[in-house]
This record gives sequence, C-alpha cells and structure tokens, in this order.
Amino acid sequence: MASIWESQSTASQPSGWRRSFRHRFAHLWPRAAAAYVRDLSIRLPESPGHQKIAALTFDDGPTDAGTPLLLECLARHGLKATFFVLGENVRRFPARAREIVAAGHSLGNHFRRHIDCWKTRPREVIREITEGTRIIEETAGVSPAWCRPPFGRLTHAVVKWSRIHQQPIALWDVFPADYLEETTAESLRQVLEGRLRARSIVCLHDNVVSMQKTPAMLGQSLPGLISAGWSFSPLPGATARNASTQPTPPAAALIGAGSVDDGALDISANARDAAA
Ligand SMILES: [Zn+2]
Repeated sequence: MASIWESQSTASQPSGWRRSFRHRFAHLWPRAAAAYVRDLSIRLPESPGHQKIAALTFDDGPTDAGTPLLLECLARHGLKATFFVLGENVRRFPARAREIVAAGHSLGNHFRRHIDCWKTRPREVIREITEGTRIIEETAGVSPAWCRPPFGRLTHAVVKWSRIHQQPIALWDVFPADYLEETTAESLRQVLEGRLRARSIVCLHDNVVSMQKTPAMLGQSLPGLISAGWSFSPLPGATARNASTQPTPPAAALIGAGSVDDGALDISANARDAAA
C-alpha cells in the first residue's frame, strides 16, 4: 500500500480533523515524552558560549527528487544537517543515501518502514529498528548515532533498544508540519522563525509533499536567520561512528536475546526512571 512515507504517493494522508489533531499532537507530544524518558532529546545538549545554534533534521527520505533539492539548499548556505531515513527508502535510493553522507550530513535511523509503534507488536518494532540500522550501515557505510521512531511514537521496546544499543532517541521542539498538503512555504517559515530558540531541533521532511515547499522555505528563511547570528549543525556524534567497527547483528539475534519487553509506553514506569 502506498503512503506518504514511501516516496511516490500521497494517497493515504489522513484528512480533516485527524490531520489537525495529529499536527497539534506532534507539537505537544515530544515535550510530554521528554518529561518522562530521561535520555530523550528534544533539543541539542547545553554547551558553553554560542547559544544561537539549532539542528535541522529531515525525516522519511531519501527520495530521488527531494533529497537533491535539500542537499543543494544546504550546500548553498554552508550548513550540515541530519537525515532520519527509512531503511526501505535507503534500499530504493541507495545513491541518494550515499550522497547525503558524502556531502557531510549525518544519517539517523527512522526504522525500516514507517510503522506505528503503538500498533505494532514489540518483536516487530525491534525488527524494524534493527533492520533500519543495518540497512543504513550496509548501504551508506555509517552507523546512525540517533534514532527517531516514526511519528515520534515511543514504546518500551524502542526506549530499551535505544539504551542497549546506545542509539539515543531524538525528537524535536520545532515542527512546521511540512508533510501536510495545506501548509505553505510561508506558513512553514512563520513556524520555524517563530518557534526557533537556542538548541532547537527542527523536524522537517524529505518526501513528495514537503519537497514542493521545504527547500523553498529554507531558501527564504535561512539567509535572514544566518544574518541574525544563527548557525545549524547535525546532531552531535552523528558522524563519529563507522559501521565497519561496530556492525549491527541481524534482528533475529537481538530478538532471540529476549531482552526487550513492551506495551504502550508506561509513563509511570518512566517517571520512576526519571526520578532515579
Ligand atoms: Zn516520519
């Protein structure tokens, strides 16, 4: 079934109130989750000195047509970013994944397919997150240092896997919703410039809808932000690991270890974690 998260179709986008609800939820959920999951990042880590720094991230790629537009835009402004790619799209467009790395950007793990972890059995979630990592390593020769579950939806399986494999979870605090048909380059610009603050992580997309406006929006917005003193960097550590030194074992080996339990994310359990 085609979906927006595959590269060729927008056929199964939700509509009406569901889209609106998801949009609002996507703004609020990362903050709520970060209050309970201690090693979840929605902003860059604190660092001394320069504070007008933020990270641009692009989800759901690579795509054949959209990725080159983003790479060209980033190169024009001398910026590096992080692409949270889907394993199935890396397989479909391997050259694009390698072009992202060759241009000095980093790859994050957005899982093999754009699954909803809240509706997926824990073993299958583990298989998707592991296979996403493995496909990136095999195809692009780098290990993703961060993961971002599709829709940002966390479960115990995701949190525990990320801890065991030291692939921390990065969500966002700025979410212009460039994957929605009704947003425009101008509305995206207003959200980006209105919500950007020190150490923000901006979630944008690399798909068939976003490619119609996100590169244009960045082209309009970045010169002014850079003039005002803003700089943008990939997520820290995302380029430091090399796949040849720490290859990820096949998913079956990890599932067989029986180390990950699941269920929807139990907030109270994580609250205890956070307090520990
Ligand atoms: Zn996504």
